[in-house]
Amino acid sequence: MLTLSKYSFGIGDRFAQQGKAQLKAFFKAREAGLELTPVWNKSNREHQIIHTEPADARYAADMAVKATGWDSEYFVDADHININNVDKFIDHCNFFTIDVADYIGKPAANANINQFIKENDLYVGALNIPGIDETFTLTLLQLEAIAKKFLFATEEAARIYKHIELKKGAGNFVTEVSMDEVETAQNPVELFFILSSLGNLGVPVQTIAPKFTGRFNKGVDYQGDIELFRKEFEQDLLVLEFASKVFNLPENLKLSVHSGSDKFSIYPLMGELIKKHNKGIHIKTAGTTWLEEMIGLAVSGGEALDLAKSIYKKAYDRRSELCAPYSTVIDIDEKLLPPPSETDKWSGKQFAETLRHIPGHPLYNPSFRQLIHVGYKVAAEYSNVYISHINQNETVVGKEVSDNLYDRHIKRLFGI
Ligand SMILES: [Zn+2]
Repeated sequence: MLTLSKYSFGIGDRFAQQGKAQLKAFFKAREAGLELTPVWNKSNREHQIIHTEPADARYAADMAVKATGWDSEYFVDADHININNVDKFIDHCNFFTIDVADYIGKPAANANINQFIKENDLYVGALNIPGIDETFTLTLLQLEAIAKKFLFATEEAARIYKHIELKKGAGNFVTEVSMDEVETAQNPVELFFILSSLGNLGVPVQTIAPKFTGRFNKGVDYQGDIELFRKEFEQDLLVLEFASKVFNLPENLKLSVHSGSDKFSIYPLMGELIKKHNKGIHIKTAGTTWLEEMIGLAVSGGEALDLAKSIYKKAYDRRSELCAPYSTVIDIDEKLLPPPSETDKWSGKQFAETLRHIPGHPLYNPSFRQLIHVGYKVAAEYSNVYISHINQNETVVGKEVSDNLYDRHIKRLFGI
């Protein structure tokens, strides 16, 4: 079976130009003694906005691997797919993130709900998860409520999994199930029964992406109660450990953290807890590479800086259109967005330092950063002009991309 290694990092490359620069960060991790598997992920939405196809993402990944001599495993992830768009990814991907968030709360057939309750009624009463001090109490009514909320979503995951399996063959791809793009977090008990159902339905899930407590906004730090997150994350790790045994799921089952880039305030505790419990992790950091391209353009100055400024200006003017699809994963304070009349006067250094995520830096502006994060649609409209500027400034841009991944993300998370 194609197995995802213990530590893996999801990297996005919206414009498919930074594979080599990204791999540099993985080589550096290896030099520091950390084997980390790169996974290039791109969703259908990103492909549509940028006008690329899954074959392009596969080609860019293969070329970057070839050019750098990366000799370990790597994956190309069909990110957030559903039954309507999975087909075009099948030939090009070996990792599938089956997104069933939209199916949460939809009713499963009564017979299936009864079957689910029968399979799990041994947990009614005191539910003890090895390693968790707290004993959860579960009533039959609560179990039924969990079935009504999540069973249909797991059935949909199974349906999509079987569809992929039929075409690719069992064991030839990694399966992730995601439920993160919702408002309400799934608690550890719910996660336990979601895994029960996936196990019973024969979905060999290797990574699962729940919605965690707190806000996981795109490209900026975690917002929420860190102690609460710590407790939930640790319980989730132990739930996965137990679930993989009792529900016949893959041994390497691990958590996947979506919108995982820049969550600097919780990286050290995640790193500490996965070490404490000897668990793996998958972190998705998709959009952050595109922000580094913008920083690289700004630092390069001249026409490249002018291009970065026009992209911001257009994104500012079209902010409601650009933000709408991302409402659950961004929090922009409009008052803090500098008007383009002001940014037009900025130096490249000022633009870069306002955008670059250095916690505590006096110029760093998370609202500016999040707007640009969702503004890649504007860059896509510049098409070849944008691509040619990032390629003309390849050295500067690539350094921003590698340093961001390695210094600010990998080092902080794994405590290197
Ligand atoms: Zn997600």
